[in-house]
Amino acid sequence: MKRKIYLQLLVILALFFSIWLGLSQIPFVQIFNIDEMDDELEEKLGELIWKSLKSENEELSDSLVVSSIEDILFQITDENNIDFDNIKLHVLDSEDINAFALPDDHIVVLKGLVQFADVPEEIAGVLAHELVHLEENHVMKKLVKEIGLSILIGATTGNANIGAISEIARSISGSIYDRQLETEADLKGVDYLIEANIDPRPMSDFMYKMALEYDHIPDAFYWISSHPNSKERAKAIHEHIGETDTDYNTLLDSTRWSDLKSIVE
Ligand SMILES: [Zn+2]
Repeated sequence: MKRKIYLQLLVILALFFSIWLGLSQIPFVQIFNIDEMDDELEEKLGELIWKSLKSENEELSDSLVVSSIEDILFQITDENNIDFDNIKLHVLDSEDINAFALPDDHIVVLKGLVQFADVPEEIAGVLAHELVHLEENHVMKKLVKEIGLSILIGATTGNANIGAISEIARSISGSIYDRQLETEADLKGVDYLIEANIDPRPMSDFMYKMALEYDHIPDAFYWISSHPNSKERAKAIHEHIGETDTDYNTLLDSTRWSDLKSIVE
């Protein structure tokens, strides 16, 4: 009888330890490794995509242009507790009206965006939108969904495949995010601007203007081709802002803005 009880106790103890071992070892170790791998993957992807873009486009080195865009970006990040120093901002000498976010906190702005903007707040609106894509991890979510994790890993390990990387670069700069992610980027982007006391209304003007001028060119390398339904989105942004009579900050003074415009024209 006593022996039977000991045996049962032993079985219960063995069960307990095997469950405890299972819980404590496998899942946590795996989760930890995946997180670590994600950071490495993101860093490597960002670096490779940026290298691929740089090999096909000239970087714009004019210090007034770069420092002005940096200043606009800094004013948004500073008031929203986003670490400005983590962001790698690049300006490309391309007439295309575009800007996009890459993995590992890269933001790429094309000269055409500055040419198309009538006021600095329009640039701020696009930057705020792209910042949300970075802060909410939309960039990696999109790539994993569109390209697949195993291909992303394959493209970044061993002899990184240049063809695959330029395909990924095309996907991140030219195709659309989920509608839900876009709405989030629009509305949170507006919140970033308001938090930084930057007039958010030109963000919706910008979208409306793009829709009127470029909606008929679906395959162009324009911000609008990766951000369709601009008219409806302009309206949603407008409604999110609501009535306002705030005294907003001056993003760039008028002399600096006109100097900037004359450089990019
Ligand atoms: Zn977007």
